[in-house]
Amino acid sequence: MSLRALANCTYSDMESLVKDLGQPVFRAKQIMEWVFKHYELDPERMLNLPLKLRKDLKTKLICMSSEIKELSKGDDKTTKLLISLSDKEAVEMVIIPSRERLTFCLSTQVGCPVGCRFCASGEGGLVRNLEAHEIIEQLYHGIAHSGSFPDNIVFMGIGEGLLNFDKLAAALGKITEADYIGMSPRRITISTSGYVPGIYRLIELGKPFILAVSLHAVDDATRAEIIPGKLCYPIAEILQACDDYEKEIGRMVTFEYTMLAGINDSNADAEKLAKMARRHHAKINLIPYNETSKEFKRPKEIDIFNFRDILEKVGVTVMLRLEKGGKVNAACGQLRVQHIKDQK
Ligand code: SF4
Repeated sequence: MSLRALANCTYSDMESLVKDLGQPVFRAKQIMEWVFKHYELDPERMLNLPLKLRKDLKTKLICMSSEIKELSKGDDKTTKLLISLSDKEAVEMVIIPSRERLTFCLSTQVGCPVGCRFCASGEGGLVRNLEAHEIIEQLYHGIAHSGSFPDNIVFMGIGEGLLNFDKLAAALGKITEADYIGMSPRRITISTSGYVPGIYRLIELGKPFILAVSLHAVDDATRAEIIPGKLCYPIAEILQACDDYEKEIGRMVTFEYTMLAGINDSNADAEKLAKMARRHHAKINLIPYNETSKEFKRPKEIDIFNFRDILEKVGVTVMLRLEKGGKVNAACGQLRVQHIKDQK
């Protein structure tokens, strides 16, 4: 029988375990408080437990299954952690401090099946889905490294989280439920490449997560150039799903728009995007491309600001993400790609 992971245990799992270990049931509550209120996954450090129980927990559970393998720091204090998993695969999480808040960016899959052409993570396709505890452990590595619990979590690391829905939902349950970590869902952003069935499953969860949809283009032909393959859903279906999300969950959706020179950065594109954003009450997150492949170019600064101005002129809320991440070799999936090359 495979071992259960500590970071994804329920109270009833823990109560059964401590009973099996011949311990009083109140020990379960103590252990769960260490795990979910003090973010501690090493039983050796759970100092109010008897020594024997600490040792037994280590043999009966997967405690911390992953470790930080490499760190990469940027000038802007962004830190990227390459996290090695128990099967030697690797994912990345990024710690992004700013003056007002601390944000963690987490991954949901090893590799990614979507294959956006500008993205290093999609290059080798999907290796495997992450387990719920592997998602939660990234948060714990971030807390241990930064010394703080994040104000915000964004699921914008490696992978299309909505294609690993059950494991993502399990991790989100632990992160948001009051008995466990208890973080407000309003501070958590779920990013998707526009996987429509996943958006509807997220609606079924009924929690007010922020939904960020990677649009990247204003017409289907351009979008299919950027996201080739069958996971590229028609824009009309994505927009309908966004409307339904706003109606059911009551939160404005964000459109992510990676700007690629000569592909999707014209004035006409900006005008069309502005109309879409207004019609669908969306905010826009503009992400000028970090040049990681020779295939695409980053637009010139003047074109980036011009594009933003066209959106703002009609009252659309625009966030312009200029550098965070790129300087630390942190554009989506690059550390992991380097790790694979090193292994070879
Ligand atoms: S951008 Fe996101 S969805 Fe697209 S290939 Fe990269 S990780 Fe996957």
